[in-house]
Amino acid sequence: MDSLLDHLRSRLLREGVMSVADYMGEALTHPWAGYYMRGDPFGAPGPGGGDFITAPEISQMFGELIGIWCADTWMRLGRPSPCLLVELGPGRGTLMADALRATRQVPGFHDAMQIHLVEISPALRERQREALGAHRVTWLDNVGQLPEEPLLLIANEFFDALPVRQFEQTGEGWAERVVVLDSDAQGDEGRLAFALAGPHPANRALVPASLRDAPQGSLVEVCPAALNIAAFLGHRLARQPGAALVIDYGPAYPTTGPTLQALRRHRRHEVLDAPGSADLTAHVDFHSLAQSAVAAGCAAQGPVEQGAFLEALGIELRAAQLAESAPGAAAALAAARRRLTDPEQMGSLFKVLALTPPGFGPPAGFEAAKSDGKRPLPSGRQAR
Ligand code: SAH
Repeated sequence: MDSLLDHLRSRLLREGVMSVADYMGEALTHPWAGYYMRGDPFGAPGPGGGDFITAPEISQMFGELIGIWCADTWMRLGRPSPCLLVELGPGRGTLMADALRATRQVPGFHDAMQIHLVEISPALRERQREALGAHRVTWLDNVGQLPEEPLLLIANEFFDALPVRQFEQTGEGWAERVVVLDSDAQGDEGRLAFALAGPHPANRALVPASLRDAPQGSLVEVCPAALNIAAFLGHRLARQPGAALVIDYGPAYPTTGPTLQALRRHRRHEVLDAPGSADLTAHVDFHSLAQSAVAAGCAAQGPVEQGAFLEALGIELRAAQLAESAPGAAAALAAARRRLTDPEQMGSLFKVLALTPPGFGPPAGFEAAKSDGKRPLPSGRQAR
C-alpha cells in the first residue's frame, strides 16, 4: 500500500461506504499520509510557498493582541495560578510565540501559565518547538488529556479542520452524503465518488433545529467533533475558572449549502482528488458550537466579527506603535491590518466566540457586541 488513495480504496472495498467526515478525517490526519501529518502547509502563494495563510502568519499583531486578551482575561478571572495556556492546532507556533512576547511584562502572567499545545502532527510539533524555544511546553493529542486546572484556551482555524458529516434533504427525509468507490470506469481500480445513502429518520435529530424543515435538495453540514470539544470545554468552564476563544470562519447562524473545500497552493481543488495532498476545511457553525458548550454549563459571548474584535483590542494603536519603531514597514502594517479587519477580506467572515464561566460577563472585545434580538445566547445553563 503506497498511497492514501490505496488505503481509502481498500477501506471502501471492505466497508462499501464512508461518511464525508470519515473521508475528511483520513485525508487530514491519517497517521502517515494525512495532509497535516506530512509537513508544513503554511505560507504565501508562489514558488516554494504554502497552501494557505492564516491570521498569525499575516501579522505579528494578531498573536500579540490575542496574548493581551489572555492576560486581561486572566486578571479578570482573579489571576488563577497555575493556569493552563492552551492552544488547539497551533500550526507553526507563531500565534503562541507572539502572544508570549507581548505579555512578558504582565506581572505574574508567565509564572502562572503552563503552556499546553494540542497538536496531532509530529511535523508541526517540531515547528512549534522551534518557535517557542525557551518556553516549557507540553504537547497533547486531544483536549481530553488536559489536566484539571484553570485554563485559557485559544483555537484559531482549528475547528474548520475537524471532519464534517453532510446531510441532504430528500423528499423522504434527511439522507447522509457518503463516499463510495465508483468502479464503472473500465480497467480502473475505482475512483472515489460522492453518493447519497438512504434517508433515515435518525438523521433529522443531527441537523440544527432551525434547518430541519429546509426545502428538498438542501445540504447541511454537521461537525460532531467540534460539538464534542465544545461540550467538553463547556463542562470544564462550568466548574473551573477560565475562558476559551474560538476564532474561525463561518456564519453566526446555521445555514444550508456545502462549504467543504479543498485548497492547494491557494487554489480550489476537487475534494476527492488526490486525498492527503490538499487542505480540507468547512465553515464553522458558531451557533451550534456555542449551544453545545452552553448546554454543558458555561456561558457564551458572541460571535463577534474578527474586524470589530481586533479594532476593540486596539489593532490601530498597535500598528501605529510598530510603524513608529520601523517607519519603512508602515505601509505593510496598514495592509496587514486591512487584511485582518476589512469586511471584504477577513474582517467579517472570520468570527470570534468566547466561552466563559457562567456569570463572568463579556471579556475584552465583546462588550460592544451588537444584539440583533436573537443573540447572544443566554448566559449559563440552557436546555438543548
Ligand atoms: N492555528 C494555526 C494553524 C491552523 S491549521 C494558525 O492559525 O496558523 C490547523 C491546525 O490544527 C494544524 O496545526 C493541524 O495540524 C492541527 N490539527 C488539525 N486537526 C487536528 C486534530 N484532529 N487534532 C489536533 N490537531 C489538529
